[in-house]
Parts: sequence; C-alpha cells; structure tokens
Amino acid sequence: MAKILIIEDEASLVQKLAEKLSAEGYAVVTALEGEEGLQKVRSELPDLVVLDIMLPGLDGLSICRMVRNDNRTAHIPIIMLTARGTEVDKIVGLESGADDYIVKPFGLGEFLARVRAVLRRPKNPTLQQDELVSGNLRVDITGRRVYLDEQEIKLSNKEFDLLTELMRNRNAVLSRDLILTKVWGYDYFVDKRTVDVHIRWLREKIEDDSSNPKRIVTVRGVGYRFEG
Ligand code: CA
Repeated sequence: MAKILIIEDEASLVQKLAEKLSAEGYAVVTALEGEEGLQKVRSELPDLVVLDIMLPGLDGLSICRMVRNDNRTAHIPIIMLTARGTEVDKIVGLESGADDYIVKPFGLGEFLARVRAVLRRPKNPTLQQDELVSGNLRVDITGRRVYLDEQEIKLSNKEFDLLTELMRNRNAVLSRDLILTKVWGYDYFVDKRTVDVHIRWLREKIEDDSSNPKRIVTVRGVGYRFEG
C-alpha cells in the first residue's frame, strides 16, 4: 500500500483529497503548512508527495528543491498543485524537480489518474531500460529502432532522442528549454522552434492523425507531454 503525503493549507481540499485516496486504499498523511510538510517528508518517507505551491511559511517550490537536494528524499515523486496558470511557468521553467502538476480547480478523477500515473513510473528513473512501450508503439533503445504495430518506422537521430526523452518522462510536461538541453545538449545554438519542428515531424510518424495528436500533447506556453 502506497503512502501519500498531502501538503496543502486549504483544509477542505485536504479533507476531500485524503478521503478519496483513503477510499482507493492509499495510506494518507497530511500537513497544513510548509515546515510541518517538509518534516513529514523526512520522517514519513512517503511514496508520493502532493504539494501545494502557495503555503504559509515555507512555500511549495522551496520544499520541492529541499526534497530533491536531500539524498534520503530525492527519489520521492512530487505532484504540485497550482492555483494559477502563471505558476505553471515557475514549476516547469525553474525545473523545480516536480514530477507533475495539476492546476486548480481540478476533478477528483483527474487527480487520482495523475497519482496512479506517477506511482506507476519506475522507482529509479536513471535505471536504463532496453525498451519503451506505449500501446502499439515500441522503442528498442539499444538497437535505436522504433516500431508501430511491429512495423519499423524510420526516425532521424534527433527524432529518436526526442521520442525517448518524452517517453522516459511520460505524463510529465517537458519545457522546450529542458528538451533542448537534454536532446540538443548544453551548447546548442538552435532556436526553440527547432523543438516544435521536430515534434511536428515526429507526430507525422507516430500519431494516427498528426493534426489531432493523442501521444505528444502540446501544453500551451510551456512545452510537451507524452501521454500513455
Ligand atoms: Ca495554498
């Protein structure tokens, strides 16, 4: 049974989320302010932290960085709760280390889906996998080959690197900056639109309908997310 820590100062929301998670069989721990929340991350070592950004005392982004900078807690996945669209830029732009975020107000169904998705991810993301699979899409990492319905499709080197980066972080939003850094390297002299162009090419190869992508979803003003 996974243990989930909710750090959020809105008591009614905490109660709602805690009830839902408990009903689904999760163990739930809660904290209504930042310092207490950080202490509980360290003492409870939960399997997942649901973390609000705007908190009295220590704010969510600071907590996120502290959790990531502590060896005992660095591996714990974090879903951030954010009230405004502008905070989304901070979460992704600062590369706070959050695994996902949800913009308020959100439905309990969506919340639960995100929680499950994050808990399903491999515990150690640095562990090298040989294969990435999503539905009828299969990526052989060692052989650098991609198959759709077991038919090989040809990708350029950059398209391949881009796809594996997105799939390794599936269901998480990756900013264009982060994608550029990871796929093109630190010394890139390329425009951010390069990412968009490669995403378009990739969609033409792996989406059923590239004008209505279901796998590589655009998160407006932020970046892209691989669903599945
Ligand atoms: Ca709050």
